[in-house]
Amino acid sequence: MKIIAPFSGGKDSQATLLYAVEKYGLENVIAVFCDTKWEHDITYAHVKYVIEKLGVTFFNLQSKVYNGMVDLAIKKKRFPASKSKFCTTELKVIPMIDFVLEQKENLIILQGIRSDESESRSKMNEECRYFKYYFEPYQTNSMIIENLSKKDKLSLAQKNKLEKAIKRLAKGKEDEKYHTYRKEEVFEWCKNYTDDILRPFFNASANEVITYSLNRGYKINPLYFKGFSRVGCFPCIMCTQKEIDLIIKDFPDIVKKVNEAENKAKSTFFKPDRVPKRYRNQITDNGVKYTSFQDVVNYRKDKNATGDLFENDLELNTCKSIYMICE
Ligand code: SF4
Repeated sequence: MKIIAPFSGGKDSQATLLYAVEKYGLENVIAVFCDTKWEHDITYAHVKYVIEKLGVTFFNLQSKVYNGMVDLAIKKKRFPASKSKFCTTELKVIPMIDFVLEQKENLIILQGIRSDESESRSKMNEECRYFKYYFEPYQTNSMIIENLSKKDKLSLAQKNKLEKAIKRLAKGKEDEKYHTYRKEEVFEWCKNYTDDILRPFFNASANEVITYSLNRGYKINPLYFKGFSRVGCFPCIMCTQKEIDLIIKDFPDIVKKVNEAENKAKSTFFKPDRVPKRYRNQITDNGVKYTSFQDVVNYRKDKNATGDLFENDLELNTCKSIYMICE
């Protein structure tokens, strides 16, 4: 039996890793870090600090296809977005599934998920299976109807999705969707080994997980002291307005990094219409104006207030990977 503890460098996965070592023994635990090559140096240094202090076996998992976020954006000819989060799939989920399939023994995967992080996480359970959605659908027409019917306001895309689901269900079709990456190998692997997920801090508060680390003599990621509520990709494609303002104020090197990445990928980091037209300084071949990261910076500097540049939605401020690898 091996214990796998995905460690992002954040407070929750750090407490979970420390718990794993305490409960199961150092020799039985493997810490894994899914490296998007788009984390802040502070996070890389913090991961190194925790791993070395703990002395735990460690694997830095990377995509075999894409050399990190910038290469991903170059090859896909665009950056990911909240409705197209291929970053999570390609740079985190797939490397982790590949790693799990390489393990030829029973596994327990300890995830640092807390129910109060977001609405979607509150619907999870303390215990689960890693390959759950290979065996049961993650989406059906009934689920779509249940989720969207509860919302007060629907976008046009959501309205269309709801209408389609209602029509399909009326014909008796559930249109079940499952995960399929390396499906046959996953089924074969699951015949021989267990893939239990435990979330030991599921009901804990943010303060409790931080205290858990501090009480054991471990510092937490210094980014928390610089005003960030989450760590992980820096910046994340779904970063908040507040995070952008913090980056502008304290991390001019990150503004430069994103500007350079946009030039290499010939694509913008945020949606083209993120700022008013007068701030959009990039022009497509057919004359349409769109937004570079620098345009967002200029807009925020001018505005210097709490506008509504980014959607103020806590759900957007989390990675939606069901494998919960992003912090
Ligand atoms: S943290 Fe953000 S940018 Fe990074 S993989 Fe997750 S969603 Fe994508």
